[in-house]
Amino acid sequence: MTLPQTVAFSRNSANVFFHILTQCNLKCRHCYINPQQHGQNTLPLSSIVGWLEAFSENSHTKNLIFLGGEPTLHPDLPAAIRHARRLGFGSITVDTNGYLFHDILDRTDPGEVDVFSFSLDGATRATNDRIRGDGSFDTCVAGIRKAVSKGFDTSLIYTVSRANIEELKEMAPLLKNLGVGRFFIQIIGLRGRSASQKSETASEGILQIERQQWLDTVPRIARMIAESGITVSYPKVFLNPDEKFECAGLVADNYFIFPNGRVYRCPLCEDFPVHSLDFKENQLVPAAKLNESDFFQLNIPEGCVMNKLIQPQNLSYRQDGTPEYKIACCLLKEEIRRE
Ligand code: SF4
Ligand code: SF4
Repeated sequence: MTLPQTVAFSRNSANVFFHILTQCNLKCRHCYINPQQHGQNTLPLSSIVGWLEAFSENSHTKNLIFLGGEPTLHPDLPAAIRHARRLGFGSITVDTNGYLFHDILDRTDPGEVDVFSFSLDGATRATNDRIRGDGSFDTCVAGIRKAVSKGFDTSLIYTVSRANIEELKEMAPLLKNLGVGRFFIQIIGLRGRSASQKSETASEGILQIERQQWLDTVPRIARMIAESGITVSYPKVFLNPDEKFECAGLVADNYFIFPNGRVYRCPLCEDFPVHSLDFKENQLVPAAKLNESDFFQLNIPEGCVMNKLIQPQNLSYRQDGTPEYKIACCLLKEEIRRE
């Protein structure tokens, strides 16, 4: 039997999400990159090296994820990967849309990059390309095949929305066929472009899905995919009454670094100038108060305080005014390991 396990938060390891540029060749409908808040610059290699070194203490306990924009657009990504490897990070992942610019697969090897993590938002060309842009399905699939053939471990991220939830069940055979080892299901948020975008067809309405549809669909299909031999993760989103709420900002160690020097501890805060830390001359320094760390302390019956502020439509209340359920931290995951 394959059962989901909640992945407990821990301060014994850290995740460093390093956006080395915000430029991208695609315009996905749910993209969360916000150039006003995250900058439009491409970090020079000297800054990438300096900022990586700020995380070098106990680096073997830290997972490093290079992101963008599209990180493979950065011509110095291979040098950045090599430097991170020398510094001893516990794992190195490159998140990519699959276009794999600058021959990245030929300029790195599986000893340097632990995982190339690809993004597809549909099991078919038609659905994926409607969300991510014409040609992106074929290019991404070809990129995955090339990475697998070169011996890289791969994972795949699928952001569930009303526009593609029906195709989630069709991902198992595609993942098996491609040889992808891990599958990450994400939920569309109300950030970045998806905050204002409507689906192209009136029948789809807004992209965000309802609680009941999520609960009825995602855990069931995640289990089905795991039974085919693939490790699957998905956000917990809604807590059961007996489950304890925890804010990752208080009990975990995550860093979301942007090329303008802002460093957040919470992804839901990234659309606002409330980051906890700043890079100043390659040193990580606390940002001015008030900032996101002040929100993390607030204990409210609805669970995540940032969700209540920016996505209150995710909540519902009983007649006496108490919330029907708590919203989990957006970083809390369920995982079903492959059998
Ligand atoms: S590939 Fe990523 S960074 Fe580029 S538009 Fe899509 S979601 Fe945004
Ligand atoms: S998503 Fe909510 S619970 Fe999680 S770190 Fe942010 S504020 Fe805390």
